[in-house]
Amino acid sequence: MLIAAGAAIGASAVGWETFSPGLSATAAGTYLRPCGDVRISSSWQGHKNRNPPSGEPGTDYAVITGTQIRAAANGVIVDRKDSTTTATGRYLALRADDGNYIRYLHLQSSTVPLGARVARGQVIAYSGASGFGSDTGYGPHVHVSLWIGGTPLQLGFTNSVDFEKYVEVEPSQPPAEEPVPLHQSTTYSWNTVVPHDVWTPIRVTSGQYYLASTGSTAKETGDLSIYVSATGVTQGFQLRVMADVLNASGGKIGAVGQPVVEVPPTRDAAANALTFGQYDLPYFLSGPLRLYAQIRALNPGVKVQQVILKKNFWLS
Ligand SMILES: [Zn+2]
Repeated sequence: MLIAAGAAIGASAVGWETFSPGLSATAAGTYLRPCGDVRISSSWQGHKNRNPPSGEPGTDYAVITGTQIRAAANGVIVDRKDSTTTATGRYLALRADDGNYIRYLHLQSSTVPLGARVARGQVIAYSGASGFGSDTGYGPHVHVSLWIGGTPLQLGFTNSVDFEKYVEVEPSQPPAEEPVPLHQSTTYSWNTVVPHDVWTPIRVTSGQYYLASTGSTAKETGDLSIYVSATGVTQGFQLRVMADVLNASGGKIGAVGQPVVEVPPTRDAAANALTFGQYDLPYFLSGPLRLYAQIRALNPGVKVQQVILKKNFWLS
């Protein structure tokens, strides 16, 4: 039976279920991670160690924008915010059936309405980078916060616990041991004038556009950086990474743009001054996907001189 939440949890929180406080403690190994076994870019303890400490310590999972987020447990959606305002950006809150409270922050979008009952493993949202009034207030990741036995307003936003201590470790995964990453570094002299005001794929080596590419069974986790130098930049240029979603036979069925980086012109007055742009992306690819970078020149005559791609990654 659903009851109204009451003023204490705020007008936007509905669908609150009654629960026995005695049932609220949860053993380790209960919850599903939001996006599987991906890299953690900032731990709960890392959030607490910040100066000043995070107002809502949680676990940051490094995933590209548009990654499916799955419910940690059976429960009810009790809060949902669809605007990019404040540090949280768009978020979703799940009241698990065990009485605990979980928030997913910086979303691109939520796929379940307030009050919905959801099942463990159900897709409830897509990850993003939202916060501070922008879709790119952060680098792309999903932040997960957990409170035991009550809401953050009851317990205090800073009194979250370490979600990672309560997740189910997938049995197929080897014991926690850092894999040795692979490295890739390419330098390519592209020497090409790119069209004005059109997103144009960037070549990273001769005849090659892809930064990363996975098939139907492969997974790739890593960090990549692209460095672009260009001349003729009077207004600036923009960089972004696109993630193409492929079907089993390699055909493109969709594309998800990652946050746009703005590169202003160099202040140097020299006509042939180089302008440098950099794009950094932590990423996790699962299934048939392809990443490539694009550039949009904000004035005519922008000539990309050199493209450097650096990747640290591992395959699973
Ligand atoms: Zn975070």
